[in-house]
Amino acid sequence: MIDFGNITTPCYIVDEEKLIHNLEILQGVEQRTGAKILLAQKAFSCFHVYTLIKKYVSGTAASGLFEARLGFEEMGGENHVFSAAYRESEIDEIISYCGHIIFNSFSQLDKYRDRVLKAGKKIGLRINPEFSTQEGHEIYDPCSPKSRLGITRKNFCTDNLRGVTGIHFHTLCEQNSDDLKRTLDAIEEKFGDILPKMEWINFGGGHHITREDYDVQLLEECIMKMKNKYGLEVFLEPGEAFALNAGYLVTEVLDLTENDMPIAILDTSAACHMPDVLEMPYRPPLMYSGEAGEKKYSYRLGSQTCLAGDSIGEYSFDEPLKIGDRLIFCDMAIYSMVKNNTFNGMPLPSIYLKKSDGTMEILRKFGYNDFKERL
Ligand SMILES: *Cc1c(COP(=O)(O)O)cnc(C)c1O
Repeated sequence: MIDFGNITTPCYIVDEEKLIHNLEILQGVEQRTGAKILLAQKAFSCFHVYTLIKKYVSGTAASGLFEARLGFEEMGGENHVFSAAYRESEIDEIISYCGHIIFNSFSQLDKYRDRVLKAGKKIGLRINPEFSTQEGHEIYDPCSPKSRLGITRKNFCTDNLRGVTGIHFHTLCEQNSDDLKRTLDAIEEKFGDILPKMEWINFGGGHHITREDYDVQLLEECIMKMKNKYGLEVFLEPGEAFALNAGYLVTEVLDLTENDMPIAILDTSAACHMPDVLEMPYRPPLMYSGEAGEKKYSYRLGSQTCLAGDSIGEYSFDEPLKIGDRLIFCDMAIYSMVKNNTFNGMPLPSIYLKKSDGTMEILRKFGYNDFKERL
């Protein structure tokens, strides 16, 4: 399937064909509903493919100055920004790149409102509907108790909305449209008096639109309801959905050891190259493998670093692993290359693009200076 001929490990591979598959689904939603879909760059800032992405969707969403600039320079089109707070020294440059500036508090709104309006840009407020739809991982739940993200109804100053034309919420993570629907119901219940005063609403991210079991039709009904009932323009800013299952991390077996069970040491690191494996935590899918014990030869797959917990998980294979074998972790385009680091002096994985015609293009190679120059 993937030609390993000349690639060096460790490396990420972005799969153009799979990316296009996702983009076509997102474009379909845009075309059928008129909603605008923006790439949340936080999940996937691989700007080398922004020209391709721009052919299918309306633009980008940013979390601050650097992403705002990247979206502006590399993609163009719609560019929305949300940050929990903006720095005085950065706000004017941010305003210059973005059409929609979303604030997280009324104090930030008061501080910067006139500068945004003077530039002819739009102002939104992020609300917190205090409606959790996810259990278990509080780290990804902006509606968790004492959350700093979004303005709760209690703190929402209805009489201080001069210049505010939009509402933003982001409360989902890898979720289906039934949770979006329930969230919108909660928003109507809590902020129903505000919606008719607005021109646009941004549904945030966390919509797993390109996942096989995602109910796209229900999403489109949710969009149409906000459009028809309140006359709102609708934006969505998914990150994951853009590059879901559209990338790999290829690694090589460096050594085979044993401690109660066979252990394989790989030339990668969960802590450095796939931090969500430890942070979320989850066990990433690995091509041609099974659960521990499912196939004949089981191994614990470990990293090259000194961190005791830097282990990727237990997997099994039909054949024993050999030193020099290459393993392919799946779904490694998102929240991987944007989060990696050089802890332990680990090199950053190269980045390849597997083009639709099957050829491999190297996008980036990293070396010693990428490690040294961070310090
Ligand atoms: C993280 C985030 C997104 C993207 O979320 P995904 O889970 O990658 O879809 C969009 N908007 C905001 C405000 C976010 O914080």
